[in-house]
Amino acid sequence: MTRRSAMRLFDAHNHLHDERLGDRTADLVKVCAQEGVTAMVVNGSCEEDWPAVLRLAQQFPQVIPSFGYHPWYLHERTADWQQTLRHFLEQMPAAIGEIGLDRWKEGLDYGPQEEVFLWQLQLAAERNLPASIHCLQAWGRLYDLLRAGPRPARGFLLHSYGGPKEMVEPLAKLGAYFSRPGYFAHERKARHRETFRYIPPDRLLIETDAPDQLPPENRIRHFLTDPSNGRAVNHPGNLRSVYEFAAEIRSEPVEVLASRVEENFNRLFGSLCPSPSVSE
Ligand SMILES: [Zn+2]
Repeated sequence: MTRRSAMRLFDAHNHLHDERLGDRTADLVKVCAQEGVTAMVVNGSCEEDWPAVLRLAQQFPQVIPSFGYHPWYLHERTADWQQTLRHFLEQMPAAIGEIGLDRWKEGLDYGPQEEVFLWQLQLAAERNLPASIHCLQAWGRLYDLLRAGPRPARGFLLHSYGGPKEMVEPLAKLGAYFSRPGYFAHERKARHRETFRYIPPDRLLIETDAPDQLPPENRIRHFLTDPSNGRAVNHPGNLRSVYEFAAEIRSEPVEVLASRVEENFNRLFGSLCPSPSVSE
């Protein structure tokens, strides 16, 4: 085995169930395994997603399921969504997400977002489950809500963190972990790259957010398109590129970064990993 393939990688946030990845899941997971992807947190974002996420977790031991209502899909929620969410959380060890606040997306109603977010955060706190949080243009409000609590004692994930660098430290004090995607390697994302340097080493995680957040073309290891329209989508096996990008930004060897990310991942998600090799 080469040294490269011996590195263990952890995807803190993706959407492996997304229909843009088509019915190629087994192939995608195989490529991920060849790349050294040891565990991935697969986030269902609405009730329609949750059965598919559960099936993947039952099929592939490296999949950690995560169930939650994302602010973009709140209009789809049924009267029973809370009961349904509790039901899915009881099927196997799982995280809560993707949940969050979004004032950026056009036409999105902010009205119900805080109530739904806080209910899910409370559930995560009660059960001490990791929560994966999406936030766009609502950082001040998110901080206030998190500070008021309750929060999961083990911490929570700010996925694809794009908030101000000045907020990293106060959020870390509340228990935040910060995961970053390969999308931030795009030339225009200079501010996001700078923020990388402010993330405490013991709070950094890496994500693909596949099939979203495609890295720049020169960093794509596995090309993939949406079969319905031929558009490029992000292959979850591109995770290694994100590690390499993060290591460059932080000026450290990728192996050093990888072992620290593994420790961080296990601290936040470890007890949910079914494979003993993940939570050693
Ligand atoms: Zn996501």
